Amino acid sequence: MIPLSGPDITQREKDLVMEVLDSGILGLGPKMRQFEQMMADYVGVKHAISCNSGTSGLHMLIAAMGIGEGDEVITTSFSFVASANCILFERAVPVFVDIDEATYNLDVTQIEAKITEKTKAILPVHVFGQPANMDEIRALASKYNLWVIEDSCEAIGGEWKGARVGGLGDAGVFAFYPNKQMTTGEGGIIVTDNDEIAELCHSIRNQGRGEDGLWLSHVRLGYNFRMDEMSAALGVAQLERIDEILAHRERVAQLYLEKLKAIPEIILPHVDADVKMSWFVFVIRFAETVNRDLVMERLSKRGIGCRPYFTPIHLQPFYVERFGFKPGDLPVTERVAEKTLAIPFFNSLTEEQVDQVVAAIQEEIEHAKEQVNL
Ligand SMILES: *Cc1c(COP(=O)(O)O)cnc(C)c1O
Repeated sequence: MIPLSGPDITQREKDLVMEVLDSGILGLGPKMRQFEQMMADYVGVKHAISCNSGTSGLHMLIAAMGIGEGDEVITTSFSFVASANCILFERAVPVFVDIDEATYNLDVTQIEAKITEKTKAILPVHVFGQPANMDEIRALASKYNLWVIEDSCEAIGGEWKGARVGGLGDAGVFAFYPNKQMTTGEGGIIVTDNDEIAELCHSIRNQGRGEDGLWLSHVRLGYNFRMDEMSAALGVAQLERIDEILAHRERVAQLYLEKLKAIPEIILPHVDADVKMSWFVFVIRFAETVNRDLVMERLSKRGIGCRPYFTPIHLQPFYVERFGFKPGDLPVTERVAEKTLAIPFFNSLTEEQVDQVVAAIQEEIEHAKEQVNL
């Protein structure tokens, strides 16, 4: 059995969590503030506001930016559903732009045509850890006076032309669910240089409390999106080790790239020359001739974790029902999504396991071909 993903927890993480439990302060305490300061320094921004998931971080930014009823946000459908749902939470409308066939990120040449009077923001997703083309996105945003929200949930430590993601737009969000590069259990964090956005997010995260700090004074609609101290302690220990964690992932990615290149039916991840990739998942794409679902099913039966990353958001049942999207609306997104597969990828994956995965994929591609020929 080789799982799809798994966290990398050392004694340091355990020690810091135990320290919190012994301290008696389990919420809104020093570990949260320490984690936020470390994250702000890591990204190179003024503010970091921790929260209880990447989803709540994205939601708070939409609210803090005043994006609401009838407003439009340009984003990608080739992502995890939360990057579009956060727009719906505030009754605004996601406007999907197709993706670039090589990087799977927003096709920046198609954004301008989708901008209308109602457009308030562009929300790129650095998909699978590959930074989107931020030069083009920022240029369009400043031309049309739009916010830029980086969904960096899959891309901590990734760089666009030498600058870390998260700090490249007006605000960014990282997520720390256990399948991400680093984890806090559940958790997320907003990063921004914008003082006003930071202040609003602090308030929204904490039941809409005002800056006066009075516990029972609520000045706006807020939520309980706070990160607890045990999660923050995990975050501190993981962020201390982030270079090591990302290097492990780079090692595994290089092994796959080397060993899979001999299989002609596989299109390997393309890493753009302008970026430093932060490997979140390792996603291969099969040639048109390969039945991805058959290969996936048989790999799963053999105990090899794999999953179709991503099923396009616009074709999720609830989006189809609500917006009437249909196959063919985003041809590149759909073509890519039909053939992509995430394969086992985590820090401690050994070369021997990589070899097993590669051999199994090769066998199952051959098997799938035989099925076609029968
Ligand atoms: C993981 C992820 C999120 C949300 O993270 P949660 O912490 O699970 O809420 C948002 N966007 C993208 C692209 C993600 O991969």
